[in-house]
Amino acid sequence: MVKADLKDMTFKELEDTVISLGEKPFRAKQIFKWIYRGAKTFSDMTDLSKDLREKLAENFTIGHLEVERKLVSKIDGTIKYLFRLKDGNLIESVLMSYKHGNTICVSSQVGCRMGCRFCASTIGGLIRSLTPSEIIDQIMKAEEDSGQKISNIVMMGIGEPLDNFDNVLKFLKNVNHKDGLNIGYRHISLSTCGVVDGIYALAKENLPITLSISLHSPFDEKRRQLMPVDVKYPLPQLMVALKDYLAVTGRRISVEYAMIHGENDTPECAKELAKLFSGMLVHINLIPVNDVAERDFVRSNAQNIRKFQDTLSKLGLSVTVRRELGSDINAACGQLRKSVMEERV
Ligand code: SAH
Repeated sequence: MVKADLKDMTFKELEDTVISLGEKPFRAKQIFKWIYRGAKTFSDMTDLSKDLREKLAENFTIGHLEVERKLVSKIDGTIKYLFRLKDGNLIESVLMSYKHGNTICVSSQVGCRMGCRFCASTIGGLIRSLTPSEIIDQIMKAEEDSGQKISNIVMMGIGEPLDNFDNVLKFLKNVNHKDGLNIGYRHISLSTCGVVDGIYALAKENLPITLSISLHSPFDEKRRQLMPVDVKYPLPQLMVALKDYLAVTGRRISVEYAMIHGENDTPECAKELAKLFSGMLVHINLIPVNDVAERDFVRSNAQNIRKFQDTLSKLGLSVTVRRELGSDINAACGQLRKSVMEERV
């Protein structure tokens, strides 16, 4: 029998489980607190009866990841973790330190099936989605290992979070729960390549997280060349979904735009981008594209990026260029996992 992982359950599900074992509901709160304070075994849970601890151990586990490898940037202290899952698969997380606190970038899947042409994470396709436990434990393990408190979370690691909707939603609830990791929704960003159905589903949940949308071109045809997801969900449909999200949540959307030389960094692109988002509550993040060995995309030069930024701000958009952290440890996603997998063969 495969034992169920208690970290895959929301508080409500844990409560139902505890009741089904013939226990009082308040036991769920005790167990939940122990789990998110980092208890690894049931014998740690000293305020539960021996009988209950044994019953739990017979039927359940508390999942946790192992650190397979860890790289620390000499430039800015950014830490890149390569975590090993129970089945041997590898995922990456990156811990970055900013003035406003420590931010972790977490993965939501092993690999990715979205196929973005400039991205390293999608090269081997999707192996599987992560469980809620595997997503949250990236944060818990990184805190335990680094001794640093994490205050912000970005779901911008390997995988497409809206392609793993139910598990991501459970993860978000447990991160936010006051007896879970107690991190406010406002400190969490979720990035999507544009899975329109998922955007509507997320709007329905109406959580005050920040939605980030990976746009990368304001022209539908160009975007389709860069991002196959645009075939299923063309740009006009995506824009309708974003407007719906804004109307429901009132939360500013963040737009990610990887600057690729000669592909999407022309003045026409900047003007079209401004037109597309005119009057909408958005912030544009320009990201100089990271080199990926298997891909021949080249990063826009500094002058083009500056011109692009100027054009957007003159046209009234809020725009910044993302600062690069951990450039000496290949902090950008997908690349460490790939190279260690290649060593294994
Ligand atoms: N699947 C989600 C989240 C993971 S990717 C999404 O697409 O948003 C996180 C961000 O990194 C996305 O904006 C993605 O487009 C971007 N990205 C991927 N490869 C990149 C590269 N080589 N250089 C710069 N940004 C990249």
